[in-house]
Amino acid sequence: MARAPLRTKPCAYCGRPFSDRKRWSGRDQWDEVLYCSRGCRASAAKQRRRA
Ligand SMILES: [Zn+2]
Repeated sequence: MARAPLRTKPCAYCGRPFSDRKRWSGRDQWDEVLYCSRGCRASAAKQRRRA
């Protein structure tokens, strides 16, 4: 059996590509993940509130 290729997407905040992770793929939340890290997610939330 072949493993599924590691999925990647650009972070919605910093734009850096990041790959799928166990904590997301295991919960099947990859489609909901927008940011590469908690820091980016928090920063994006702050920007939204200020804007
Ligand atoms: Zn990021």
